[in-house]
Amino acid sequence: MSIRNPSLPLPLIKGGKAEENYVGRFAPSPTGPLHFGSLITAVASYCDAKAQHGRWLVRIEDTDIPRIYPGSEAHILRSLDAFQFEPDGEILFQKDRLAIYEDVLEQLAEQGWVYACQCTRKMLGSNHIYAGTCRNLQLSFAQQAIRLKVTDTDICFEDRLQGRHCSNLQHDLGDFVLKRRDGIINYQLAVVVDDYLQGITDVVRGADLLDNTERQIWLGRVLGYPELRYLHLPLAMNDQGQKLSKQNLAQPLDLNQAPLLLQQALTALHQPPVVLDTPARMLQQAIAQWSIDAIPHTTQLQGSYA
Ligand code: GLU
Repeated sequence: MSIRNPSLPLPLIKGGKAEENYVGRFAPSPTGPLHFGSLITAVASYCDAKAQHGRWLVRIEDTDIPRIYPGSEAHILRSLDAFQFEPDGEILFQKDRLAIYEDVLEQLAEQGWVYACQCTRKMLGSNHIYAGTCRNLQLSFAQQAIRLKVTDTDICFEDRLQGRHCSNLQHDLGDFVLKRRDGIINYQLAVVVDDYLQGITDVVRGADLLDNTERQIWLGRVLGYPELRYLHLPLAMNDQGQKLSKQNLAQPLDLNQAPLLLQQALTALHQPPVVLDTPARMLQQAIAQWSIDAIPHTTQLQGSYA
């Protein structure tokens, strides 16, 4: 098996430039309204991009239809307005792009990188690392999960905050699912394809996604996409030591309190203080003083947040 370049179009970048120094993004999933943890990610990705004179894009990751929480997409868009973030391009919705992901799957199938898998969750039991049971069964792709083959390869990357992070694809991760049996395109596939097509150079996101990164790097390599830089932020936790999430009943952002919440998010990231003002002016201040070194080099923030 060889790693071939895909026949996909080059990233579509404003002004027709094929490469830019910094293109960042904020890519929330509308599985619940944005909470304080999401705000930290939005603020950090925004300030990091703007401090480096880069562009900042927004992408709504809504391929997992059953997990979409009613009204949360609208809350995300209202939050972007309330906090006066200014995306440098149209907001992209992954549910409008399913044909693109299917094309990439087809290309991977032609190259022999993917196979259909009939193993149910029950059959897999507590085995977190897939043993490759269906790899050589040549099952038809219809109504089955589609898995990507991995090889016995160590993948390492230098996270800008967390340092070096490595996994062995075969021993630590196993062949992984790109499309579920119910037809839903998996996050791993959509994120890699869209980061490429949007010309993303820098990923700034929560440390809960650190362990997904080697899979994404692998898929990107298989598809011949350029490698990205990563920065995984420490997570805001609640008073029970759980990361903030809809499941853990994190409070939706109160959009009437945008300046105060922005100030708190910057404090959580250990950034120099900003004076309460309009969100746009506060963001300008935060960008001017943005310091990666000041952010705790940990996967969790001290203290508890609602
Ligand atoms: N959509 C993912 C989430 O909301 C984030 C994806 C990413 O930043 O790579 O958790």
